[in-house]
Amino acid sequence: MRIGFIGLGNMGAPMARNLAAAGHEVMGYDTVAQPEGIALAGSAADAARDAEIVVTMLPDGAILRAVAAEIHPAMAKGAIHLDCSTVDVESARAVAEGAEALGLLSLDAPVSGGIGGAQAGTLTFMVGGTEAAFTQAAPLFDVMGQKSVYCGSSGNGQAAKICNNMILGATMIATCEAFALADKLGLDRQAMFDVVSTSSGYSWSLNAYCPAPGIGPQSPADNEYKPGFAAELMLKDLRLSQMAAEAVDADTPMGQRAAELYARFVEVEDGRGKDFSAMLPRFSGRGRS
Ligand code: NAD
Repeated sequence: MRIGFIGLGNMGAPMARNLAAAGHEVMGYDTVAQPEGIALAGSAADAARDAEIVVTMLPDGAILRAVAAEIHPAMAKGAIHLDCSTVDVESARAVAEGAEALGLLSLDAPVSGGIGGAQAGTLTFMVGGTEAAFTQAAPLFDVMGQKSVYCGSSGNGQAAKICNNMILGATMIATCEAFALADKLGLDRQAMFDVVSTSSGYSWSLNAYCPAPGIGPQSPADNEYKPGFAAELMLKDLRLSQMAAEAVDADTPMGQRAAELYARFVEVEDGRGKDFSAMLPRFSGRGRS
């Protein structure tokens, strides 16, 4: 397929490279990055013009809206705009409406799996849009990822992503504060892990991504909390979840508290640039006040 790829940052560049390596004709564009191994166009519209599918992998909803306004008029009728960025549900739905009005198909398909998953081609895609567009884009999901889940109409991919990450943020905090409490109660971390990982407190945060160094499977905790999944990206997703919750009047007190704690960690304390599991040393170093 002829593919335009806009946004060649930490995630986009390896995704675009994997598409090119699979034999697709990829034309990339980024305002700043010029990664090797990807043919580059002079503008976003140029990258989009002859493409059957245009992938965007951009920082936020405002930038996505601006790029969509530029590329949609250049795209051929029936072409697909496949947005893999993590953005607010409202922007995803507005971009989809704009595409539809011009006779284009669109999908919101945010990913989980991080930079490692982007490089290895093992991302998971959560996809909103029409089933017809999902079926057409499936070969790309197979190259860039190992799993794609159809979630329903436009915006539902973003909804799935922020709900998942709201659970993740809250369970990571709960896991970290429990380890810090266990420390102060004199309970050995290995014993704590052995009990909880096989008891009703288990979760992905504990079992697969244990925030305590030297305990459980290999995780960023074993690498001085280098990300992994950076605390500021978790903060971004938690804020998106709270924006969405406000828009539909949903009561999400745990998500709200998680957003507040990560905001403090990233913006006031020294959490920026650390993995989101570095909440454990944060809690360990504090008392109740
Ligand atoms: P990044 O900042 O490395 O890349 C974004 C790229 O977009 C940059 O190269 C930037 O120059 C480019 N860009 C900005 N404005 C542009 C414009 N108008 N036209 C063209 N290019 C433009 O970010 P990333 O880590 O690659 O993340 C991309 C998206 O994926 C974000 O929405 C992020 O939330 C999401 N995501 C990231 C991860 C991760 O682990 N990094 C995991 C899951 C999802």
